[in-house]
Amino acid sequence: MPELPEKQLQQFEQRLRSRREELRDIIHAELANSPEQNYSELAGMVHDAGDESFAELMRGINLTTRARELEEIQDIEAALERIKNATYATCVDCGDAITFERLDAYPTAKRCITCQSRRENRRGGRDTTPSL
Ligand SMILES: [Zn+2]
Repeated sequence: MPELPEKQLQQFEQRLRSRREELRDIIHAELANSPEQNYSELAGMVHDAGDESFAELMRGINLTTRARELEEIQDIEAALERIKNATYATCVDCGDAITFERLDAYPTAKRCITCQSRRENRRGGRDTTPSL
C-alpha cells in the first residue's frame, strides 16, 4: 500500500490548511466589498439608460470568481478528509499511489497522472467508483 511518510503528509496538511485560510480571507474580503454594493453603485451609474443588464453582467462575474474559490475550498476540504481517512495520495480510480511530485504541484489531486490523463483524453470512459 503506497503511503507518504508521516512527515510529508503533515506538510501537505499544513499547506492545504493555510491555502484554505487564504481563500477564506479572499472570500471574506470580497464579501466585505459586497457585490450588492457594487451592484447598486453600478445600477446607479447605468440607471438612466435603463441598462440593468450591464449591472447584471458584472454581478455574474463576481459570482463566478467566488464560485471558483468556493470550489477550491471544497477540493481542499475533500483532501483534508482523505488525509484523515488515510486515503490521501491514493488514486481514487485505480488505487495506485499518486506521486509526490504530482501532489507537490497539486496538493488536492485525487487521481494519479495516468488516470487523470486518461480521463482528460476520453471523457466518461469508466465510472469513478473508487477501488478499495
Ligand atoms: Zn490511477
